[in-house]
Amino acid sequence: MKNITHWINGAPAEGAGRVSEIFNPATGEVSGQVQLASVAEVDAAVAAAVAAFPAWRDASLVKRARVLFRFRELMYANQDEIARLISAEHGKVHSDALGEVARGLEVVEFACGIPHLLKGGFSEGVSTRVDSFSIRQPLGVVAGITPFNFPAMVPMWMFPIAIAAGNAFILKPSEKDPSASLLMASLWKEAGLPDGVFNVVQGDKVAVDRLLEHPDVRAVSFVGSTPIAKYVYETGTSHGKRVQALGGAKNHMLVLPDADLDLVADAAVSAGFGSAGERCMAISVVLAVDPVGDELVDKIVSRVSALTIGPGDDPASEMGPLVTEVHRDKVASYLDLGVSEGAKLVVDGRRTPVLGGAAADETPGFWLGPTVLDHVPAESRVHREEIFGPVLAIVRVSSYEEGVELINGGEFGNGTAVFTNDGGAARRFQNEVEVGMIGINVPIPVPMAFYSFGGWKASLFGDTHVHGTEGVHFYTRGKVVTSRWLDPSHGGVNLGFPTNR
Ligand code: NAD
Repeated sequence: MKNITHWINGAPAEGAGRVSEIFNPATGEVSGQVQLASVAEVDAAVAAAVAAFPAWRDASLVKRARVLFRFRELMYANQDEIARLISAEHGKVHSDALGEVARGLEVVEFACGIPHLLKGGFSEGVSTRVDSFSIRQPLGVVAGITPFNFPAMVPMWMFPIAIAAGNAFILKPSEKDPSASLLMASLWKEAGLPDGVFNVVQGDKVAVDRLLEHPDVRAVSFVGSTPIAKYVYETGTSHGKRVQALGGAKNHMLVLPDADLDLVADAAVSAGFGSAGERCMAISVVLAVDPVGDELVDKIVSRVSALTIGPGDDPASEMGPLVTEVHRDKVASYLDLGVSEGAKLVVDGRRTPVLGGAAADETPGFWLGPTVLDHVPAESRVHREEIFGPVLAIVRVSSYEEGVELINGGEFGNGTAVFTNDGGAARRFQNEVEVGMIGINVPIPVPMAFYSFGGWKASLFGDTHVHGTEGVHFYTRGKVVTSRWLDPSHGGVNLGFPTNR
């Protein structure tokens, strides 16, 4: 059986104690085990990072960038294998896994420009013969704690920039699909990254808590569910660390009556059911402004009924299983709940055939097909809570204003989209909506690597979004140097506060 270890100081490292099972979600069978780090194992990874940091910090910008260029090439050469590992443990289809690797690599490409990104400012003559300049320096040892749904992309939101900026990095991946992290670690080594600059500790709450309180860890990036994000933010900051903690989501698509309904239906189905809805930027609610609801639901249902669900490694599959049995059961429980709350179940994913065979709820593995609930009441739990699965809720609204009010009244503020051909309405929407990432006729508006990714409200704790310029700022600290070279005309004691002459 496959055994997933830590990666410490440039080599795989066995754990000494607890393990957790890894499943093949398509069959429900156990496919391996992952080590769960003890406090001592986390401490060993931090010690390796502490030892590696000074030399890496002092490596020239060009040398660091060259290691990143080599890492990028190796990642491209191995993308199929990484996607295969992700698909086998997460369940998503191979093409979708390849997509996450590609989006993560865009951050590596952004970080290859680190010599430019770390350029400071210089002002000559701020006072007589005095110059000032700003520099940004790495923090030291930084950690990333990541969720199950993007085992390659979300870590790549973090470590390329952290490492390019001169930090040493410790990744704590999700214990549900940890294999991609080890392959990425070995590719860093092959790319020439010095041992100890990138480490992986596998684990659960024990590892997370140790990273949050370890005195040598300077900053923590977290992506996961809202309750844990809040906990990580509060615990990490109370231990004096810089923390950015991205949480859950409930993303609405507002459909105005002038929108192209075929485009909308394609977008809603793609964004609602891609990766089985296990994306923080998935569309989980369609707000249909009267009178388009009936026609739009017909178009969505005809597309959903044509989707093929099946194992991630079968090219015929468009949507795979959910990640675990517990998660599948939780997501499926929202179907009966929705009906009891007054919604109409128009597509029941429990009955979707798996690759044309038996129904999802009669097939071994963690299956639930694409589900559509119509006439979902705005006050219902199905509308308000993050479900994180293939369940699309249609909420009928009478106006643009009612739609925006529902979006802004929600707990989360990660992503949202408006579909319209009216530029004025779209502009009003982008201005009024209280959400961090907005799509205009774009259903999953994940920012490019050179912009920063992050939501509002319960979707982000902390001030800094990930990657882009905010990512560079998160992993560095600013200094301003004011310098004057000796000049005899400036001699003499002066107790007054320095003013500029
Ligand atoms: P999760 O919160 O259960 O786990 C995330 C990480 O926290 C994992 O590494 C896990 O081991 C660790 N963890 C879990 N419980 C913990 C505890 N009690 N104490 C300390 N650490 C703990 O999230 P998940 O189920 O892996 O991922 C899905 C969630 O992530 C969804 O809510 C989704 O919206 C969110 N997500 C958000 C974004 C974003 O950009 N905002 C992106 C991807 C996923």
